[in-house]
Amino acid sequence: MILSVSQVQCVRLAIRPSIIHGKGLFTQENVSSGALIYESDEYTVTSFPIYGSLQHTPTEHILEDFLRWENHSCKPNSCLRFDGSAVQLIATVFISADEEIVCDYRTTEDSIPTPFRCNCGHCDAIIIR
Ligand SMILES: [Zn+2]
Repeated sequence: MILSVSQVQCVRLAIRPSIIHGKGLFTQENVSSGALIYESDEYTVTSFPIYGSLQHTPTEHILEDFLRWENHSCKPNSCLRFDGSAVQLIATVFISADEEIVCDYRTTEDSIPTPFRCNCGHCDAIIIR
């Protein structure tokens, strides 16, 4: 019997308006550094990057319901990791309740399908491509 990971919120998450860009992914409770925030193996796979997708391999990109909302920051508080077919969102620092969960897109993507001027507040509004 194979158990599906499906979509597991290890902390309560919310999608809310973000000061960085549009809407973002927020935690509703404190998260310890190193904690698993979210895990999913329910996603769409494409052979090319699309808006909101995450690169898994050079030829495999995934589009996932919650993770597509995670905004970029040059000072990330999380990272993405693959464990078999499951994509995991891990806190890299302590994250306070109601804080936006952000990652550095440059750590997963070879290139950004829609380059943008960064609004993270931690850089000089560099172009992320
Ligand atoms: Zn930035």
